[in-house]
Amino acid sequence: MDHFQLKNGILHAEDIPLTQIANEVGTPVYVYSRATLERHARVFREGLKDAGDIHLAFAVKANPNLAVLRILANQGYGADVVSGGEMQRALAAGMKAEDIVFSGVGKSREELALGLDKGIGQFNLESEEEGEMLSEIAAARGVKASATLRVNPDVDAGTHAKISTGKKENKFGVAIDVAPDIYARLSQLPGLDLRGAAVHIGSQLQRLEPLEKCYARMGELIAELRNAGHVVTHVDLGGGLGVPYKPEDNPPSPAEYGAMVARVTRGWDVTLMFEPGRVIAGNSGVMITKVIRIKPGVNSDFVIIDAAMNDLMRPAIYDAWHHFEAVEPSGETMVASIVGPICESSDIFAKERVVDRVETDDLGIFRTAGAYGATMANTYNSRPLVPEVLVDGDRYAVVAERIDPATIMAAEHVPDWLK
Ligand SMILES: *Cc1c(COP(=O)(O)O)cnc(C)c1O
Repeated sequence: MDHFQLKNGILHAEDIPLTQIANEVGTPVYVYSRATLERHARVFREGLKDAGDIHLAFAVKANPNLAVLRILANQGYGADVVSGGEMQRALAAGMKAEDIVFSGVGKSREELALGLDKGIGQFNLESEEEGEMLSEIAAARGVKASATLRVNPDVDAGTHAKISTGKKENKFGVAIDVAPDIYARLSQLPGLDLRGAAVHIGSQLQRLEPLEKCYARMGELIAELRNAGHVVTHVDLGGGLGVPYKPEDNPPSPAEYGAMVARVTRGWDVTLMFEPGRVIAGNSGVMITKVIRIKPGVNSDFVIIDAAMNDLMRPAIYDAWHHFEAVEPSGETMVASIVGPICESSDIFAKERVVDRVETDDLGIFRTAGAYGATMANTYNSRPLVPEVLVDGDRYAVVAERIDPATIMAAEHVPDWLK
């Protein structure tokens, strides 16, 4: 459920007409709903009510906007970060260092040191080599780093190949069959307090079966580690729960997910950690765009809009579907391809799709743009960096400004020897 609904014929974010935001801030622009973010954060937590002791860490890469992170911090969420920059954002947004989990296959020496200096709660190690480096840095500081070992359970998540992370050929984690040996060696290191295992098999999962299979394997691993004399107190089950992009999509609900987790993890006697991203933020945001013009095409008309693949990359890189709607729908539809102005054939949001009829200067939205939307935006074709707005009831604020080409050019320099 979200708070982007038609009222008096105009799409609103909570109580604000999207026409107002488009007029006052310009387009394209991302719009987030505070009530929706808070609702999703609450529903995810409630879904896990029978899962015992839990720790929730929002996957910052899904939406790193500081205002969004502050909302989640206020909901008691920590953060799952995958870079030093994300760590700084989570801290700046008010998340407690001990509630931050540091994931990622390529944490650098500098990032590991930064994490230690900030006192972050847990490092999810993705290789033996990373564990050795972290131990060395921690030991030199006279501290022990809390860590888990991320394992690769070799489970097919059944999602798009580019967001699948738990097959044995993927770069993430260590293969589950060698995990006990690596765990044994890492547990001897002076700078590590190895306290459990972590897993994350992919994103936009549409079924619970792959997750259940993965968690069952984690259960076997925990038993094996304990048999070998290790103390296991924390197990990080990652993120990945899918969201509906099309009106007919029906991914598992947080309640169904939570019930499965409670069933599979019964008796583990650990703190269960979760790293939800998309399921919290995805349907909490839309992107508003304006129609530049309609151009006749061979199979259908092209609706050329002022948003492009640089503003919302998912269709271009994952063949992703984002539902398009007119902000002031007439009730009529048309068959059209919706495309941006960028000089790439992948700059297409919808191909020969039945959509609300729109004309030049009309406004439209792409739904489910709150996760992996603005965070992936860039300035390709020297376009401005797209701004972000947060709505709260009948008020709104610009929470990320549009960054114009002039600002970006100001950070570029033509060396004297070219003048
Ligand atoms: C991306 C990522 C997540 C979040 O995935 P969602 O599908 O957005 O829930 C969680 N954990 C790790 C390690 C990730 O890389």
